[in-house]
Amino acid sequence: MRINLVALLIYISTSLCVQAQDTNQLTLEVYEGKYATVNAFILSNGKSVVVLDALRKSDETKGLIEKALSKNLPITHLFISHGHTDHFTGMWRFRDQLPDTQIIVANENIRKDIKSYAIYMNNGGETEGEPALEKPLIPIEIDPKGFDYENTIALLNSYQFEIPGGGSLEVMTDFLPAEQDHMTVLYSKDLNALFLFDLAYNNIHPWLGDDISYDDVANWRTELKRIQERFADKDPIVYPGHGKPGDLSMLAELDKYLDDYVKVTKGASTKKQAYDEMIKRYPSYTERDFFLKWSLINHMRDKPDQLKSS
Ligand SMILES: [Zn+2]
Repeated sequence: MRINLVALLIYISTSLCVQAQDTNQLTLEVYEGKYATVNAFILSNGKSVVVLDALRKSDETKGLIEKALSKNLPITHLFISHGHTDHFTGMWRFRDQLPDTQIIVANENIRKDIKSYAIYMNNGGETEGEPALEKPLIPIEIDPKGFDYENTIALLNSYQFEIPGGGSLEVMTDFLPAEQDHMTVLYSKDLNALFLFDLAYNNIHPWLGDDISYDDVANWRTELKRIQERFADKDPIVYPGHGKPGDLSMLAELDKYLDDYVKVTKGASTKKQAYDEMIKRYPSYTERDFFLKWSLINHMRDKPDQLKSS
């Protein structure tokens, strides 16, 4: 009887162990960038490492690469989600330091977005508050020592990304133009993790600057509702491009924010008035003097900056 019990315990603990290995193969680490509060992610299956996004300042990317290297596994891919500098700037450091790491995007549209945003930033961009495009990212057509977008960035062109050594990510790109014209969303079944990148912001004023029109804002709200419906039964952990991970309620809050933002910017008579109102409604949100400020400059071009003193 006693022997049987021991045998049973051994059997249970062994099978639990095997099960744990089977289901928990994939691990995830969030790497929080300081500038623009932008996230990068390090995925590992114990055999290889995949990095998602590359941060806004390549100096910070050094730390990201160090962290990825600390796994002592080959870093097979750097996957870039979309064409904004806060997500792709550090990719030149991967190219230089890790020449065997494949830089990859979901499709041609995203590669084109990346290159044209780099050219736009190289021409000054609209947000003088941001640092200039880093020199190694100047397209080679302009500076031969710069970046060869077509030959350095590979295209996935698939709805599934297989992580070398095990595990996969579902790849979604069928979104209306919103925060950027083309966006990638990744879903890991193993981790029940939904990487929404810049379709989601958590407790941070979303970027509505540059060329993000009111139509894009309306599209964005449509997509937020669609994603909530699609993933409601899975109740995934949501990883935003900016801010801490959370759950799907983050999307409802962002939807409300976007609704408020349109009403406030259309109703306010000065940028300052709109700024104060958004801060009053969202007091805990960060990046007010970067993201919110430049969003208001974009949507309230014809309105004065300051309230007239009465
Ligand atoms: Zn971003």
